[in-house]
Amino acid sequence: MSKTVKSLLAIGILAAAGIASAQEQVINLYSARHYPTDEALYSGFTKATGIKVQRVDSDDAGIMARLKAEGSASPADVILLVDAARLYRGEVDGLFLPVRSKVLEDAIPANLRATPTADGGISWFGLSTRARVIVYNKARVNREDVDTYEELGAPKNKEKLCIRSGSHPYNLSLFGAVMEHMGEQKTEQWLKGMVDNMARWPKGGDTDQIKAVAAGECDIAVSNSYYLARLMRSDKPADKAVVEKVGVVFPNQQSWGTHLNIAGGAVARHTKHEANAIKFLEYLASPEAQNYFANANNEWPAAKGVVLENPALTAMTGGKPFKSETIPIGAVGANSTKVQQMLDRVGFR
Ligand code: FE
Repeated sequence: MSKTVKSLLAIGILAAAGIASAQEQVINLYSARHYPTDEALYSGFTKATGIKVQRVDSDDAGIMARLKAEGSASPADVILLVDAARLYRGEVDGLFLPVRSKVLEDAIPANLRATPTADGGISWFGLSTRARVIVYNKARVNREDVDTYEELGAPKNKEKLCIRSGSHPYNLSLFGAVMEHMGEQKTEQWLKGMVDNMARWPKGGDTDQIKAVAAGECDIAVSNSYYLARLMRSDKPADKAVVEKVGVVFPNQQSWGTHLNIAGGAVARHTKHEANAIKFLEYLASPEAQNYFANANNEWPAAKGVVLENPALTAMTGGKPFKSETIPIGAVGANSTKVQQMLDRVGFR
């Protein structure tokens, strides 16, 4: 085949694809969720509505950088992020389109969504929650020595701690929340205490920290609840052995409560498919979708009245409700710059 024929063919194929996508119902989804069970979620939506979901995967920071770079030319319709501070940042940076939806407003509690704009639009909606818990080696640590976040930085826990990078959104949000409770000065001292308590420099994700506790590399770790739940539900003998060795604490039950983070969604500022994008978020808040979005990833559903029995989460909490903190998400997001500066000062990598 000659080059010219090839490129003419290519143009033909592109043109045909262009026509098809103009007629087709599509949403472009930028997703920071990296959980395999989300596939069933998207096909469920397509089945119910005929709207195809085209997905771009990245992490929270990658998605936000991409949205900024693309500006008004962005094809994004819906954005899914996995951290409350990032959702807040996206709102402040104007990356989201505030929307009105009775379905979403009825389904998602006010404390798990953005504060409405002057004309009632809401920039983002929480779709699931996860707790930032403390995991410890049952044979080597007394539970009472790790039942608060403050104790992670206490001298008694010297060289016992494994934790992922301080700059990771999950930690920035936790530390931003702690700053809201303890104030700046005490928070910086606490962060310094954690650096002193590290058994090794931060590396890997939350699951790696749990495994390091089981392996004896450290005695205490910090993790999102669903990573531990995933190990608890695993059939692999190695994972079972890890779970056997560790205990879990929902910190600060006697004071401000355990830090919760949120995964959530927003309509993109420059969407060309606003109605479909809202439809997609409404679908994610439905009981059926919440089962995939939250439960399948061992998170708690955000939608009101959706109660899902998850054996690992029930085992983790002893089947009882736990006290979670109640601070505005905006405050946590607003603290993250200061927290990052503290981390630099105390050498928390
Ligand atoms: Fe995660």
